[in-house]
Amino acid sequence: MAALPFSDEHVPPMLLHDAAHVWHPYTQHFNAPMPVPIARAAGSWLYDAQGRPILDAISSWWVTTHGHCREEIVEAIAEQARTLDQVIFAGFTHEPATALAAELVSRLPRGLTRVFYSDDGSTAVEVAIKLSLQSFANRGTPRRLVAALENAYHGDTFGAMAAGARGVFTHMYEPLLFEVARLPDPSVGDTLAALDALIASRGQELAAVIVEPLLLGAGGMRVWDESVLQGIRERTQSAGVHLIADEVLTGFGRTGPMFACDRADVRPDLLCMSKGLTGGVLPLGATAATEDIFDAFRSEDRRKTFFHGHSYTANPIACAAALASLQLFDEECEDDRVRIEVAQATHLAELRGVRGVKAVRHIGTIGAVELEAGEGYLSEVGRELAAFALQEGVLIRPLGNVAYCLPPYCTTDDEIAQVYEVMSRFLDGERADPLTTGGPIDD
Ligand SMILES: *Cc1c(COP(=O)(O)O)cnc(C)c1O
Repeated sequence: MAALPFSDEHVPPMLLHDAAHVWHPYTQHFNAPMPVPIARAAGSWLYDAQGRPILDAISSWWVTTHGHCREEIVEAIAEQARTLDQVIFAGFTHEPATALAAELVSRLPRGLTRVFYSDDGSTAVEVAIKLSLQSFANRGTPRRLVAALENAYHGDTFGAMAAGARGVFTHMYEPLLFEVARLPDPSVGDTLAALDALIASRGQELAAVIVEPLLLGAGGMRVWDESVLQGIRERTQSAGVHLIADEVLTGFGRTGPMFACDRADVRPDLLCMSKGLTGGVLPLGATAATEDIFDAFRSEDRRKTFFHGHSYTANPIACAAALASLQLFDEECEDDRVRIEVAQATHLAELRGVRGVKAVRHIGTIGAVELEAGEGYLSEVGRELAAFALQEGVLIRPLGNVAYCLPPYCTTDDEIAQVYEVMSRFLDGERADPLTTGGPIDD
């Protein structure tokens, strides 16, 4: 209990229960400092148990799109909760899920006409991979190989881990992960040449290529070229291989347009959504598929059914939140995204070449700064920056030595300036006072 920012008699009970009974994600409980108790949130701000504001510069792990506790979404949730809270989605249907499917299809890249609901980003990826593999099997031409990018991240369930890059997150499970053909990270390597070679040697086995279009997120906010995405689409198309676009992060405006595929005018066969789908308020996943893939499952032979579903598939309250969020996208969101894109570009330009900055990266509303330091996710510099920023009232959570600003779209230019000001002061040598922060926040 060392270094708590509370005097003994003011330790909130939630911290005692937390210390005794809670297991946090991505947290080394041996030496993690006490978590920050958050009591409420509004717009781009979180408020801790003592009312101290913290600027949420990472959209609470990349989910919050329109800001916290948006009235329109809160109202939609309340009304739906009073009307229909939950119903089995096999053999039954409801307005929020059907309306949302139609609204999504009208905004998705052309050709994606079917929506399969699940719970989160990882399950949206699992569904996409299974749909691809089974569609080939159902047609009597089984293909079992999936190709994925170096430095990819697709989630933490087993199939998603298999598709993701090998590293500290996955090495423990490596012998249990299915084979994936690995293509070079397009931000540094020649992905298209490797894909050509793969199709030449194993094209008949290859079911799908899965990519995070234009931005490898958790792999270090690595931005890659639209022409490469177009090249992957052309090659997969002519080889009869599915392209799976994992837009769990990039979807819902993060790269500018609604989907990153739109930037490159690419139409994938499968597209995974979650994170920003409900405005970042409730968990929901969705996998969009082409009618061609859907058709591969329509059969008198019941074995060709997609035997997959989750208890909360298409939860009406989550779907209602997503519908309210989409309406906000229509009404006001685009101008804000353009404004944030300009602000990011301005601040990143100022950081380019500054001592301690190795590189800056930018796409749409996301700005990233690669700091000089030991490489990799376990690098210390990012943790030190996070601790300093938190002390200064800004939540950032670097990926190793890559710090980034990925704000809700309601974030003002002044608030974005505040994020970069904290980064600049850190680069000037300022550090957190260990007595007030409890030291670097944990990975
Ligand atoms: C976060 C993420 C996932 C996993 O989503 P969860 O909701 O955390 O399971 C999958 N793919 C990408 C690209 C992500 O950024």
